[in-house]
Amino acid sequence: MTVFLQEMTHAEVRRKAEEGAAVIIPFGSMEQHGLHLPLGTDLLIALEISRRVAEKTGSIVAPVLWVSLSKEHMAFKGTISLESETLVKVVRDVVRSLSLHGFRRIVVINAHGGGDAALRSAALEANTNFDVSVLYIGPSEVSSLLPESIQRELEENMDIHAGVFETSVVNLVRPDLVRRDQPSKPKMNIERHVLEALNLAKGNPTLRASILSSVLAKFNELSDNGSLTLLDPLNHWGEAETEMVLDEIAEKIAEVVRKWR
Ligand SMILES: [Zn+2]
Repeated sequence: MTVFLQEMTHAEVRRKAEEGAAVIIPFGSMEQHGLHLPLGTDLLIALEISRRVAEKTGSIVAPVLWVSLSKEHMAFKGTISLESETLVKVVRDVVRSLSLHGFRRIVVINAHGGGDAALRSAALEANTNFDVSVLYIGPSEVSSLLPESIQRELEENMDIHAGVFETSVVNLVRPDLVRRDQPSKPKMNIERHVLEALNLAKGNPTLRASILSSVLAKFNELSDNGSLTLLDPLNHWGEAETEMVLDEIAEKIAEVVRKWR
């Protein structure tokens, strides 16, 4: 049976609520991802991780929004950004609706750094306002669940946006959306003190995310094509490796969901 809420009937949803299933809400963004990836890349990633966790745990995936907070990308066409209060209110209304249907465990899986602070605080707030527990998994949690050698490789190569990781996942789930004829390796313009700070934060995805969010206000000034990486993203991982990495991330999240009653 499908794991996606939009593909279920109300009777199927009722049975899931009675079984005590968790509901996973994936969040991404509608923002530029260089010249070789589509604007919806982050949601494709969040959906894929969510689907795998749902299949492992009997949960439902409820994709409610394609957009998030992406002001730093507004210089690039097509980016759509909400105000952070809007996003927080959407999460509140969604969690309220699900709690009224008897769901008690909600997992937010967010693959977009720009929405991290708002979604994290929305999840905490929902925990105290409704009779539910909301588990928040953001981009730094996802990075920390990557196999260690891959974490190190991505970190050393500043593979931050529309880089090898994101390209590998899109190549696995929607290979037709990867523009192989486009330049993908950016010319980056990141100040030395930022690079030094990032170096100090090696092995610490949360601190790295904080440092990055302090300098990402104008993405178009940091990269000529919208990607941020020292690697050539079109030299992405093969399908078998990407499959293994995603499954490892999903399995670790699934372990938490299974134990979390
Ligand atoms: Zn992205």
